[in-house]
Amino acid sequence: MPGRLADKVAIVTGAGRGIGEATARLFAAEGARVVIAEIDAANGRAVADDLAARGQQALFVETDVTRPEAVGRMVAAATAAFGTPEVLVNNAGINVFRDPLAMGEEDWKRCMAVDLEGVWSCCRAVLPDMIAAGRGAIVNIASCHAFNIIPGCFPYPVAKHGLLGLTRALGIEYAANGIRVNAICPGYIETQIAIDYWNGFPDPQAERRRACDLHPPRRIGRPEEVGWTAVFLASDEAPFINAAAIVIDGGRSVLYHE
Ligand code: NDP
Repeated sequence: MPGRLADKVAIVTGAGRGIGEATARLFAAEGARVVIAEIDAANGRAVADDLAARGQQALFVETDVTRPEAVGRMVAAATAAFGTPEVLVNNAGINVFRDPLAMGEEDWKRCMAVDLEGVWSCCRAVLPDMIAAGRGAIVNIASCHAFNIIPGCFPYPVAKHGLLGLTRALGIEYAANGIRVNAICPGYIETQIAIDYWNGFPDPQAERRRACDLHPPRRIGRPEEVGWTAVFLASDEAPFINAAAIVIDGGRSVLYHE
């Protein structure tokens, strides 16, 4: 039986670990030809090699999404190896959690460069070919921080709110060209980025428990729980879902209080 993404060429940024890795693995298992566009060469290559060893189609291209020329080279390499990309998952992202007025200029720039401008750069690189082909699906991994604010997490939510704006704007601009642009807004997902955050507290285990208790299911999310939704949005099962945002947080953002 053909996979749900059979023969689609899909770029996943930041796919060397975490949500991106889980997404790339699910995409490959569903028959996609996956391009691992990752800044960490060791992690990115390891994921691509492992997928290839399983008989799946994967290509690693070392990519810093903040450098438009590197993004252009990555898309060219993807096209040369597999054909025109039909799917782009903008997953690469960084946490920059600061007090607004104590924050240095560099932190603002770094956050916007990766979490917002890097996404636009990747979109800009794939859109002309998607328009020419008359089909494409872009999935942006935003965050609950695209709707909600946690004090002390500045300017990450500024970038993620912007990413939602980018999703909606591009979704409308190119809908008539057969292109869908959607966002996934995960809550707490157990990846290295979350573990690093907990490790910043005097008792990381207590902080982890606190995070689990905040959620109605009394746990946080798993990377593949985001990946499954990315598979759906990238597939032909979601042809009329566009400019939308799907929240994956176990209901946390709906809960008023207990
Ligand atoms: P990870 O840090 O585990 O993985 C992100 C990957 O992206 C890393 O391999 C990282 O490399 C890579 N990366 C970082 N900067 C760049 C860059 N400039 N170019 C290319 N790749 C880069 O993060 P998660 O898997 O947790 O997060 C993935 C996405 O999900 C992010 O956009 C994040 O904001 C979002 N998200 C995560 C949540 C969570 O709770 N985990 C919740 C909500 C949203 P390196 O390790 O070298 O930095």
